[in-house]
Amino acid sequence: MKVTFLGTGTSYGVPMIGCECHVCTSGNPRNSRTRSSIIVSEGECNILIDAATELRIQCLRNKVRRLDAVLLTHSHADHVLGLDDLRHFNRNRKTSIPVYGFQDTVKNIYRMFSYAFSEVSSNGSKPKFTLTPIDGKLSLSGMEIIPVDVMHGQEKVTAYRFNKLAYVTDVSQIPQDSMDKLMGLDLLVIDALRNIPHEKHFSIEQAISIVSILKPKQTFFTHIAHEIEHEETNKTLPAGIKLAYDGLSVEV
Ligand SMILES: [Zn+2]
Ligand SMILES: [Zn+2]
Ligand SMILES: [Zn+2]
Repeated sequence: MKVTFLGTGTSYGVPMIGCECHVCTSGNPRNSRTRSSIIVSEGECNILIDAATELRIQCLRNKVRRLDAVLLTHSHADHVLGLDDLRHFNRNRKTSIPVYGFQDTVKNIYRMFSYAFSEVSSNGSKPKFTLTPIDGKLSLSGMEIIPVDVMHGQEKVTAYRFNKLAYVTDVSQIPQDSMDKLMGLDLLVIDALRNIPHEKHFSIEQAISIVSILKPKQTFFTHIAHEIEHEETNKTLPAGIKLAYDGLSVEV
């Protein structure tokens, strides 16, 4: 199984519009972060987790030509606005693309993308996808996927576990029964926004303390804000933990 980080930035993206800080003006490409999303691949099969705002650019950069399914963590704009770009993959597949999410997420997508489900024909093309609320384990293209509930401020969002890999973003608290479902990982990808605590995201320090309980073999932090300089911060992280960056790919 392979994980490709299409994007690793927080909802604003990095650089942030109008910001002149040393990270936003850095020449290091690892300080340039599109909105967070990964692809989990097994053989030819590609499962996208979240359809970030820059999905088109991310797919071009990473030469993604095929998508088999999309899993959504939640319906905040930075995680779903790329759904319109599924049109390109419809053309390749010639069928609609299955999209999965927690019930409230699915409900919000119907509202946000009502034009995609409208019976009225439009002159322009529309993305074709089917929405299915998740109710327990999923099996997609031979991959077993376990949804895991985590808290993003007051909202419940969905993390996903694929065998020894878990993707846990937009999280500020993990209930005990969900912690139990995240034990024994080879690779954990987890939200670590910045150093200062945030109501809806783990800080770097909080994410490190979760890692010290879960003890995955390897951890990458994602959903990173502009306060975090890639190289300086990586030097301060404990062994086995690194910042992810756009374009990184890891075998699990
Ligand atoms: Zn987000
Ligand atoms: Zn900045
Ligand atoms: Zn969010």
